[in-house]
Amino acid sequence: QSAKGPHFIEQIILDDLKNGVVKEIRTRFPPEPNGYLHIGHAKSICLNFGLAEQFGGTCNLRFDDTNPAKEETEYVESIMRDVQWLGFRWHRLCFASDYFHRFYEWALELIHAGKAYVDHQSADDIRETRGTLTAPGKESPYRNRTADENLALFESMKRGELEDGTCVLRAKIDMGHPNLNMRDPVLYRILHRHHFRSGDEWCIYPMYDFAHGYEDAIEGVTHSICTLEFEDHRPLYEWLLDNVSVPCKPRQFEFARLNLTYTVMSKRLLLTLVNEKIVSGWDDPRMPTISGIRRRGYTPSALRRFCQEIGVSKSNSMVDIEFLQYIIREELNLEARRAMAVLDPLKVVIENYPEGQTEMLDAENNPERPEDGTRQIPFSREIYIERDDFMENPPKKFFRLSPGMEVRLKHAYLITCTEVVRNGDGEITELRCTYDPLSRGGEAPDGRRVKGTLHWVSVPHAVKAEVRLYDNLFTLRDMSAMEEGKTFRDYLNPGSLKVLENCFVEPGLAETGPLEKFQFLRQGYFCADPDSTPERPVFNRTVALKDSWAK
Ligand code: ATP
Ligand code: MG
Ligand code: MG
Repeated sequence: QSAKGPHFIEQIILDDLKNGVVKEIRTRFPPEPNGYLHIGHAKSICLNFGLAEQFGGTCNLRFDDTNPAKEETEYVESIMRDVQWLGFRWHRLCFASDYFHRFYEWALELIHAGKAYVDHQSADDIRETRGTLTAPGKESPYRNRTADENLALFESMKRGELEDGTCVLRAKIDMGHPNLNMRDPVLYRILHRHHFRSGDEWCIYPMYDFAHGYEDAIEGVTHSICTLEFEDHRPLYEWLLDNVSVPCKPRQFEFARLNLTYTVMSKRLLLTLVNEKIVSGWDDPRMPTISGIRRRGYTPSALRRFCQEIGVSKSNSMVDIEFLQYIIREELNLEARRAMAVLDPLKVVIENYPEGQTEMLDAENNPERPEDGTRQIPFSREIYIERDDFMENPPKKFFRLSPGMEVRLKHAYLITCTEVVRNGDGEITELRCTYDPLSRGGEAPDGRRVKGTLHWVSVPHAVKAEVRLYDNLFTLRDMSAMEEGKTFRDYLNPGSLKVLENCFVEPGLAETGPLEKFQFLRQGYFCADPDSTPERPVFNRTVALKDSWAK
């Protein structure tokens, strides 16, 4: 529970427990294994697993694998990995495909009771006779088949005697029902497709609406939580449970889905980005997938805190991506080890520093956590600084390096620029400086004030690295508001990835742990990418610093 008090689902559960409606709560997270999970799913995971933890109940991970056309083992594995990475443990691991026999039995029960029939109309006919919000639908000419006839046909469907699309099983409810979902919805269709778990055992597959409530009932789910789009499917959910004998009767509750600015959250679109190689894969650090966000350098605790803070409600809204960035920035500020990295190098030669000498300087690992101690970084006559930390003709408030100007090298010395060296094209290739040997650590003995502080890396000790800078994948804040006639392609941000191949990092960063996190001074928060090798480390920028000091 948050400081704001219980949200509406917590309140429902509190009341149910108090009133003895349930003794213990059971929830489930029910992804369809047809893609990788995204941050919207994280909201649902945190909610379902979080409620179970909070109220001493249990939560299942259930794969809603009832559509053989799109589902794969790779997705199952990625989903399990992502849920565990977020820090949750399922009570049971379940697959809807394990329930196919029971679904079939319930379908037979509906047919026996005259509550379902086999319809030979085409999919188009079924759609067209469904009616509209203002006009009732039209009954199918096959609606009044006898139970025996329906039974024989349904069994024939199951035995594989009929082609895909020949007929479907429909619920017999009410073609004039004000809720369109109740106008004889399709329950089963014929699909001669190999299922990644049940193989070729079945050639009829249940529809989501038919299966979902029964999955919940089998597992003894008490609170079946889904997103708002399913609110007007709830009468059907209940009808299906009320018209057969089920071991328990779960109840469905709906909450608003997460929408984030500058991204899309539909698996179909994310799959297109992957298939068309617009991104490097499901775990491309620009993707809103959990695996992409992980590779970008986010932590499970940051995602969980994000989900906690955005809250759970019944009104749809859009969350600013900046809010997510704010949360990871806050966390990494406290946690991440500091390091120096020069992304766009300019060589500086310190003329009065002894040639061939290296000295080790003390650098604090994290000013927010003195207990993290210090490390030793090498300093020498030649260093790299950031190219844009030098200006030959600086404006008034430029406190970085310029001819005649003195600046501080972080953890090292005060230096003054004495000469600018150029190549034949007039491009600056090197700066000549002098240093004050008495300023070790960064303070002048006479107390003179030096405003600018630069990060740097010693040339002979530097490790060459690749740095990847990321920006939003899309240029439109609300991707559900694309202009008519446009597609997501019209809104791709051409600057969403910038690869810097000529960066230098301090030597301690040659070997990093997987996804190890750093604050590169004045640059932002970075993590080691799995593409890293000791010869060539690769770093992803998770998020920039809000304001870079002394700039
Ligand atoms: P998509 O629309 O991206 O394809 P989906 O809802 O079809 O997602 P499922 O695998 O069925 O994907 O989702 C599993 C669970 O995650 C469902 O209970 C669903 O309601 C929830 N979920 C999906 N997207 C979001 C979201 N943006 N915010 C909150 N919960 C979500
Ligand atoms: Mg779904
Ligand atoms: Mg979907």
